[in-house]
Amino acid sequence: MNNTGAPGRVKEITALSNPTIKAIRGLDRKRNREAEKSFLAEGQKLVIDALDLGWQVKTLIYAKNARDHSGLADLAAKVIARGGDVLEVSEKVLGAITRRDNPQMVVGVFGTRWADARKLKHAPDSVFVVLDRVRDPGNLGTILRTADAVGASGIILVGDCVDPFSIEAVRATMGSLFAVPIARMTEDEFLAFRREWPGQLVGTHLEGSVDYRTIAWPQTGPLLLLMGNESQGLPDTLAESCDALARIPQTGRADSLNLAVATGLMLFEARRHALSFKDNA
Ligand code: SAM
Repeated sequence: MNNTGAPGRVKEITALSNPTIKAIRGLDRKRNREAEKSFLAEGQKLVIDALDLGWQVKTLIYAKNARDHSGLADLAAKVIARGGDVLEVSEKVLGAITRRDNPQMVVGVFGTRWADARKLKHAPDSVFVVLDRVRDPGNLGTILRTADAVGASGIILVGDCVDPFSIEAVRATMGSLFAVPIARMTEDEFLAFRREWPGQLVGTHLEGSVDYRTIAWPQTGPLLLLMGNESQGLPDTLAESCDALARIPQTGRADSLNLAVATGLMLFEARRHALSFKDNA
């Protein structure tokens, strides 16, 4: 995988045994993604959007039978001009890379990016989503997409979380991964970070005493919205560090909401003042 910034090139590959293809296929493992500092994202539009947002494509891979797709030649030329490689492969190879029977025709290899939480920019009404040990890639991807949709300023992963660069998480973000900064820290680092935080830390808890609709969100300063692990919720150490513990009232049999759904409800309430049809008219 070329990440030298030198001019890129186009290569045709049909063999699954090709070492470049083997290395790219290996990116389905977290260990390899960490070693290579690389991950896969599928879909031509998503790759174009990522480029527009300033990400560099290390390797662009497309199926030979998609060669004439509108915009693909331009995309390939742009990737090469920026020092990336372009691989034209068989559909079988693409299916093996994405581990799908009906793969997307275009896949990009990108470099992973982690934000430094202490350097994340915030305004008085900024919202950051803090996820305690999130385990499900679909939940994490959906939360990233929702955070993007409401104009949240970033995501902070606390403790042992699922990798946001896994193909399942990236898929669920629908491209929002490229728009929302992601930081990570241990629980102790988060508690120290929280002590310096100029705004509120609002946690969500099934035993929370505050109805989430009653919080005067925009007046609380930059907000850290803390969500608990899918099966265990928030540990006491984190719950006790919150300024308020909010609860979404429920009726019916379910004893809790899905984490991504609960995060969506909280985010849309916290950002209610900032959202209108004007933004996407
Ligand atoms: N068994 C876990 C527990 O006892 O907390 C359930 C966790 S729930 C599936 C995952 C996370 O979603 C919770 O930690 C909380 O952050 C959020 N959540 C789900 N339903 C909620 C509700 N009704 N009110 C507030 N937060 C909720």
